[in-house]
Amino acid sequence: MEKIERMRIKPHHLVDIISSFGSGKPEFKPHPFGHAVHIVAETVFTNPDVEFQIELGADTICSPCKYNVNNACIDTIDTSFRPLAPKSKNEWNLLIDRRWCDKLILKQGDVLTARRFAGILLEKAGNVSDIYCEFPPDLTLRKQAAIEKGVKFFLEK
Ligand code: SF4
Repeated sequence: MEKIERMRIKPHHLVDIISSFGSGKPEFKPHPFGHAVHIVAETVFTNPDVEFQIELGADTICSPCKYNVNNACIDTIDTSFRPLAPKSKNEWNLLIDRRWCDKLILKQGDVLTARRFAGILLEKAGNVSDIYCEFPPDLTLRKQAAIEKGVKFFLEK
């Protein structure tokens, strides 16, 4: 029988997926980048007890992405509203994923369900200005509100 591998996830990818659930009925459509966020998001939505392994490098979402080259992201981020952030998406992702790990007391290789991850977010996320300190305050507040709404929706649905 073929072995099904456990999905690997960057913490901020799972935060963003759960946050997106709070904005109405989620749609799971392929993205032009070719990444697997729609597949992973639909899996999380339909099976909150799906297990993930925490990954700070290229994860299951990145695997089919056109910007994933040798397991590193070669894309850049828009720094127009966050001039102190690194231009490299690889560096930016690592920065915020390390911050999320510190805040949620998670580390590379930890295994937990999406539901458990959401529970930890509910317990520990709070004010996220420490994670997104390069963002302007209004954007940080919007991000925080989206996380709170998404977590509540996901844990109560
Ligand atoms: S982090 Fe980079 S490689 Fe991964 S899905 Fe996003 S753009 Fe693609």
